[in-house]
Amino acid sequence: PPRFRNVSELIRKVLPKETFNLLREIGKIADREGVNAYIVGGFVRDLIIGRENFDIDIVVEGDATEFAKVVGRELGAKVHTFSRFKTATLVFKDGTRIDMASARTEVYKFPGALPEVDIAPLKKDLFRRDFTINTLSVKINYSDFGKLIDFFGGLKDIKDKKIRVLHSLSFVEDPTRILRALRFSVRYRFELGKHTEKLLKMAVEKKLFKTVEGQRIYHELKQILLEDNPLRVFLRLEKYRLIEELFPGLRWNREKKDTFERVRKLIIWHRINFPERKTDYHLVYLGALFFKEPLERVKSYLSSLSFPEKEGKKLLKFLDEIYGTYRALKSSNLPSEVYKTLRGREEEFLLLLAALFPDVEEKVVNFMRDWRFVEPLVSGKDIKELGLKPGPAFKEILNRIKYEIIDGRVSREDREEQYSRLKEMVVGKVSPSN
Ligand code: ATP
Repeated sequence: PPRFRNVSELIRKVLPKETFNLLREIGKIADREGVNAYIVGGFVRDLIIGRENFDIDIVVEGDATEFAKVVGRELGAKVHTFSRFKTATLVFKDGTRIDMASARTEVYKFPGALPEVDIAPLKKDLFRRDFTINTLSVKINYSDFGKLIDFFGGLKDIKDKKIRVLHSLSFVEDPTRILRALRFSVRYRFELGKHTEKLLKMAVEKKLFKTVEGQRIYHELKQILLEDNPLRVFLRLEKYRLIEELFPGLRWNREKKDTFERVRKLIIWHRINFPERKTDYHLVYLGALFFKEPLERVKSYLSSLSFPEKEGKKLLKFLDEIYGTYRALKSSNLPSEVYKTLRGREEEFLLLLAALFPDVEEKVVNFMRDWRFVEPLVSGKDIKELGLKPGPAFKEILNRIKYEIIDGRVSREDREEQYSRLKEMVVGKVSPSN
C-alpha cells in the first residue's frame, strides 16, 4: 500500500508565498469541482531532494482542460489548452506558470472491454513515467493538501540514491530514458539500480536508438548539455558505449574531454558576468563535440538528430569560421585588432573560441569582459562643431578614437583628452580646400 506523509510545510518553505497560496486556492477549486488534483514529477522529486525547482506540473483525475478553465477564470490566469492531449498551461498575472494534465481515466484492455476502475487514474498515469524518483506526487485538494503519495517506492529510492525504472520493458519502450537515467544519475549523484543497469545495458545492445525519432534524442541531448556538468554525463555515455551509438564515427578523446571541461568553466564565468545575455550554452558544447570532425559527418549527425534548422546552420557556420578567427587572433598584437576581429560575434562563438584555443583565451575574455563595452565620450556632435560635414568619416573617426581607447593610448574617462585627440584627427580631415 502507498505510504503517506504530509509535505505541506516543506512546500510552503520552498515556494514564494504567492505561489503557495495559489496552490491552496487551486486545491479549494478542485474540492468544489469534485476532482482530485496532484503535483507530480520533478517538482516533488526536487522538493524531497532539496533542489530548487519552480516547475509545477499538476495532474488532475478528470478533465484537466475543463478544470484549468475554471481555475483560470477564478484566479485570473490566462489558459492555453491543448485539447488533443487534454493538457493546459495556466499563466498567472505575476508570470507564474502551472501545467495541468489529465490522468488517463479510461484504459481498455481490449476494444469493448470495460474500463478498469480498480486502479486510481493517478497511479496509472505515474506508471507510464521513467523512474521511481519521478513518480512521487502530492495531493493539493484543500482537505488533503500536502499529502505525499508514493506508489512505486520513489521515496526509498531517493533515500538510497538510486535511479530505478518501473518495469523491465521501460528502456525498450522508450530508449531516450537511457539518456535520462544517465543525466539524472549525474545530476543527483545517484547510482543506477542494479537491475536497472542490467536493463540499460541490454537495451543498448539492441541498438534501439535507431528506432527513435531524431528530435526526441536531440531534446534529451540538449537537456544533457544544459546540465551543470555535461562531461560527467558524457563519460557515462562512453562507459555504456553510447557515444558511438549516437554519433557513429565521432572521435571522443582526451582533447575533447579537456575542451568540455574548459567550456564548463567558461560558461560558469559567463553566467555570473552576463546573466542577462540569452546564450545557447548547449551550442558551445556541440561546437566542442564536433570540432575537427569532417563537415559531411557533422551534417549527417545534424540530420539524423533532426536539429532545428537555425541551430544547425549556426553551428556549421561556427565550425567553418572558427579556425580562421583563431588565426586572425593569434596574429593580433593590439587589443583593437582583437576587437575588430571579434566585434559582432555571437556569444556562443566567443565561448567556443576561448575553450578550443587556450592560447587566445585571454584575448577573447578581455574582449568579452571589457573591450567590447568601450564607448568614446565624444560624439558626432563634437565633430560637427569642429567644422566637418556629417558623412561616413564621422563613424570612422569615432571608431579610431575607440580603438585608441582600447589600446590605452587615449584615456577612457577623460573627455578632454579624447576631445583633443578628436580635434587632431578632424583637423587632418578638414583640408584648406574643404
Ligand atoms: P528537469 O528537472 O530536468 O526539468 P523533469 O523531471 O521535470 O526534470 P521533464 O523532462 O520536464 O523533466 O519531464 C517531466 C516529467 O515527465 C518527469 O518527471 C518524468 O517523470 C516524465 N517524463 C519525461 N520524459 C519521459 C520519458 N521519456 N518517459 C517517461 N516519463 C518521462
